[in-house]
Amino acid sequence: MKVGFIGLGHMGGPMCRNIIKGGHEVLVHDLSDAAVRACVAVGGTAGGSVANIAGQVEVVMTSLPMPRDVEAVALGPDGIGEHAKPGTIYVDLSTNSPAVMKKIAARLADKDIVTLDGPVSGGVVGAEKATIAIMVGGDKGAFDTCMPIFQSFGKTIVHTGELGTGCIAKLVNNMIAFTNMVAGAEGLMMGVAAGIDPVILNEIVRNSSGNSMGYRGVAKSALERDFEPAFTVDLAYKDLRLALELADDLNMPLMLGPQVHNIMRMARGKDQGGENVTAILKVYEAAMGQQVGPAGKNSKKNSE
Ligand code: NAD
Repeated sequence: MKVGFIGLGHMGGPMCRNIIKGGHEVLVHDLSDAAVRACVAVGGTAGGSVANIAGQVEVVMTSLPMPRDVEAVALGPDGIGEHAKPGTIYVDLSTNSPAVMKKIAARLADKDIVTLDGPVSGGVVGAEKATIAIMVGGDKGAFDTCMPIFQSFGKTIVHTGELGTGCIAKLVNNMIAFTNMVAGAEGLMMGVAAGIDPVILNEIVRNSSGNSMGYRGVAKSALERDFEPAFTVDLAYKDLRLALELADDLNMPLMLGPQVHNIMRMARGKDQGGENVTAILKVYEAAMGQQVGPAGKNSKKNSE
């Protein structure tokens, strides 16, 4: 199938390369030339612009940071809506707002373009190994048409229902995951402040009922002192803001989500927005004047 892929970052890059390796003809585009080159190196074709790609492909996909980026690429004057042929399928793989996706889908439907929301989960490692989950809302026929493409870069591929339900599933998942991560950061900090070796504490928690993917992520960053971005605080903050907006729409009380959002806000306030989401741990470390880290590295002297 002839595919267009726009947004070749931490997730989009490996997802796109797997589509290419799956034997599809892929036109690629990103604001970063290096990101484009990395996909051309495995057989993609530089598309030059969104407009140029949109007019030539059967399916166009985006993986972009913020809802406003997706809206600009989909609905802007040089965007997909203005240039794609009738019958084109558009899939947004970003973590996006269900309301924004419905607005985009309604506008593109006027041009006979079918929109699917298909956010993904599994992180950069999962994207590289093609083991990510893809949760897709929207027209089932279009979903079925795209299945061979989805299978080239994902493992768990679920049709979630009507348009927007992919985003709903993703926002719920991430709210749970980030809450687990903050609980992990809080627990690790408390244990270390109380005097237990973090390596021993980690050995206990990862084999006990406190274990979760969010916990393991923050523990790994803490013990290796590695906060290199694979998924940034800024993107996690955006995801949680979208989840809170959803709760607003539903008049749904959320006890934990807003607290977790606030901790991310504090991390951003300390210029950690571009670090990995696990840098939320540093909010606790700053409060305690002490670093969680391997035995011998967690003295007050070593605090950041
Ligand atoms: P990223 O910042 O690494 O990549 C985004 C890419 O989009 C960049 O290469 C950027 O140059 C490009 N871009 C931005 N605006 C563009 C435009 N107008 N035209 C062309 N290219 C443009 O972000 P990411 O971590 O890959 O995340 C992408 C989306 O996937 C986000 O919505 C994020 O929430 C979601 N997501 C990320 C992860 C993760 O682990 N990183 C996991 C699941 C979902």
